[in-house]
Amino acid sequence: MNKKIDLNTLLDRIDALESRIEKLDPTSKRKLPSKKEQIENIKSNLEEWSQKFPTLDIEFELLKMLDWLKANQKRKKDYRAFFRNWLRKSSNSIEKNVQDVYRYIYGCKNNKDCKHQESEYKDMVIFCKQCDSQKKIIKSIRA
Ligand SMILES: [Zn+2]
Repeated sequence: MNKKIDLNTLLDRIDALESRIEKLDPTSKRKLPSKKEQIENIKSNLEEWSQKFPTLDIEFELLKMLDWLKANQKRKKDYRAFFRNWLRKSSNSIEKNVQDVYRYIYGCKNNKDCKHQESEYKDMVIFCKQCDSQKKIIKSIRA
């Protein structure tokens, strides 16, 4: 956890530095390698990227990013920077999803004596043999 916070702080600093460089020396004036070269460079450093973003499938994220760029007809100057932001967003949304995992307690609304059942899914169909009816979610708890 701490490692991730440190990483985000570090990335923030890099972003800040890059925007300062951008002001001093705009990307439009700088000569960056072609898209193909940049993507090849990312591909040859997949291992390094997955160390930085251990919760992500880097190869899959790269494919997703390339698909997204294609679908949205976007071209970027700096694909490496764009990829890093892409991974960062994905990684943040994974963390958020993990935090938001709930467990659902299913029970019988008409018969409180029936046994409760717990599930991580909120769309389960659980039938109660005791009272011959379908159990409903009576409570959700943070896992
Ligand atoms: Zn029941």
